[in-house]
Amino acid sequence: MGRLVMKFGETSVATAERIEAVAAIVASRAERRPIVVVSAVGVSVPGEAKITDQLEAMAELAHAHKPYQENLDKIRVKHEKVLKELGLSWELIGPVWTKLRNALSDLDRPYEEYLDDVFSFGERLSSHIVAEVMNAKGTPAVCVDVDELDIITDENFQDATVTPENEGRILGRFRTEEKVLVVPGFAGHTADGRVTTLGRGGSDYTAALVGAALEAGEIQIWTDVSGMRSADPRLVPDAERLDVISFDEAKALAAFGARVLHPKTIEPAMRKNIPVVILNSFRPGDEGTTIRAEHIKQNKVIKAIAHKKGIEMLSIESTSMLGASGYMARIFNIFAKYGIDIEMMATTEVSISMTINNNKNLDKAVEELKEFANVTLEPGQTVICIVGEGMRHTPGVSGRVFSTLGTAGVNVEMITQGGSEINITFLVDDKDADRAIKALYYACIS
Ligand code: ADP
Ligand code: ASP
Ligand code: MG
Repeated sequence: MGRLVMKFGETSVATAERIEAVAAIVASRAERRPIVVVSAVGVSVPGEAKITDQLEAMAELAHAHKPYQENLDKIRVKHEKVLKELGLSWELIGPVWTKLRNALSDLDRPYEEYLDDVFSFGERLSSHIVAEVMNAKGTPAVCVDVDELDIITDENFQDATVTPENEGRILGRFRTEEKVLVVPGFAGHTADGRVTTLGRGGSDYTAALVGAALEAGEIQIWTDVSGMRSADPRLVPDAERLDVISFDEAKALAAFGARVLHPKTIEPAMRKNIPVVILNSFRPGDEGTTIRAEHIKQNKVIKAIAHKKGIEMLSIESTSMLGASGYMARIFNIFAKYGIDIEMMATTEVSISMTINNNKNLDKAVEELKEFANVTLEPGQTVICIVGEGMRHTPGVSGRVFSTLGTAGVNVEMITQGGSEINITFLVDDKDADRAIKALYYACIS
């Protein structure tokens, strides 16, 4: 059957009671020698800021030599409360807390490096707590900190990636550990030991990396919903659970906003052909969603919709030069130089429109583009992606989609079809997005 990787998101470890529930879920699968990946302790009171957000705010202050003691106290109080409710002492996380304080005072390094070091501590604290609760409940467990995990990433701080060559080293000497290994999600380090983080929500990716490295039998993503739904449940509460979807379908849904899965999770799992199963830690008996390799035959041509709001559309226009050889190359060289990921793109004779994934350096790229083209940025857009393996062989899907949107009075800005032909992606104005998604859901999926 292979070993199990079990990742618990922050809602699954938000309170003492939830952490105890996690320990019970892991204990019930102990015979599969699980490796447990955890997120930071989650929000337990409405309105409370996420630990990872609090760490970011604190890093920003500290690096700018502004007072941050109040921020640090808040994070300490939160952890003290969870420890107290669990009957555990502060000593358990004392050494990690000291590392956090040391990281905070190590100011003499670029902010992006400093931030990742501080950023990583939510998971580095929670993993010790989860391991200790397992021990207390009779499941021998051991927690391993980031510096010992050999999750060696590139140097793209805040959104680091592990290359397949480095994947084989992950967990190193801990692979043969007999106890349940509890691993902090979200973090890795560069080859020379500087801490990196894998992108917000990146603990899912940690689980996939660990799974791929160990050639695990299954990667389980435990969260607060019973699997992937055919639309965002906050928008379409009656959207049904998808029983099985393919890696390609999951990849498209995650890339275009189905937050339940981090987009980088699929690649390592797919390469090693390891099923990823999304499960609900609040309802461990529920069935979830299995993501696996086979193309699944289903009656429905369109299986699901994902969306991402607040996207900026970038348009580059030139009346004379677009067709000229070298012009496109010039544009893409600028994107490559600044490491900008293009997500969707459409071209006409005189213009290129696109949406951009990572925009850390967008301003600089736009400045350079403006030297030879008209550039406009249009914020307030929503990317909508409809997904289904059945679309590969079914003509007329886009006709149905766009006539549904027309009837709903939604204006569509940009349309692209994914290379694998299992998704159609388009852009609408933020204000039309909810209407568009509901109309599509009821006309094409439900
Ligand atoms: P975790 O903290 O466990 O990583 P996330 O908040 O990242 O949890 O992901 C779970 C959330 O994803 C759900 O609570 C749900 O609101 C949201 N979500 C968005 N799209 C979907 C979808 N298609 N199916 C299920 N959940 C979705
Ligand atoms: N704690 C990190 C975040 O909030 C990673 C995660 O939860 O997956 O983004
Ligand atoms: Mg998540």
